[in-house]
Amino acid sequence: MRTAVTDAKRIVVKVGSSSISGANVGQIEPLVDALASAHARGAEVVLVSSGAIATGMPYLQLDARPSDLATQQAAAAVGQNVLIYRYQQSLRRYKIVAGQVLLTAGDLENPTHRSNAQRAMERLLGLRILPIVNENDTVATHEIRFGDNDRLAALVSELVGADLLVLLSDVDALYTRPPHEPGAKPIAHVPFADDLAGVELGDIGAAGVGTGGAGTKIAAAKLAAGAGTAVLLASTANVAAALSGEPTGTWFEPAPR
Ligand code: GLU
Repeated sequence: MRTAVTDAKRIVVKVGSSSISGANVGQIEPLVDALASAHARGAEVVLVSSGAIATGMPYLQLDARPSDLATQQAAAAVGQNVLIYRYQQSLRRYKIVAGQVLLTAGDLENPTHRSNAQRAMERLLGLRILPIVNENDTVATHEIRFGDNDRLAALVSELVGADLLVLLSDVDALYTRPPHEPGAKPIAHVPFADDLAGVELGDIGAAGVGTGGAGTKIAAAKLAAGAGTAVLLASTANVAAALSGEPTGTWFEPAPR
């Protein structure tokens, strides 16, 4: 058992576009179940969710991710609304209220914006509201281009001083090489400051609806771990096990605080 998970007071969970949109829209409910159970044991939970573009696509009669930025932003504007609605519908079963927080990496560098965001997050958590964060895609496009909110999730973890960041994706762990290749082995534990020299990364694949991959996850994990947040990389399908402290996924040890 990972007691660092069950003891965590403040947890940021990040979920990617392909895990909660299209054919996987049904994963919202079990994800919310797992968040609600962490919330019920007293943890403060922040969800960083991508999926605005992917959720908006059918409303714009698009069957593939648009390639131009303006249409991506339009899809995100439509999809963000639907996405929050879906989360709130599901959270209602637990009488949990969501708060929508749209941020940019730049906001977290600007001292005034940063302290505004920090104050708002603290108050939301103090009120037992579940903040749902996404990139503000109308004014920023970093996560649209590279990362599907992985970096944003690390920056949010640092902003709120999270004990734990759970990065969820379609893959159940970090592997020594792309998981579909022969000989790929899952990595259970990454010591702090380990350079992961033996790990070979593949292409992120242009076919999907998001933009993240193992590379952006490792970069985000290192950023958060460096700021003192433990990081757990796990699959969305295993979120309940991950949040109840079962030894699933890849654990990144944090820097000593
Ligand atoms: N903020 C964007 C979204 O939620 C980023 C994810 C992406 O690249 O699709 O859709």
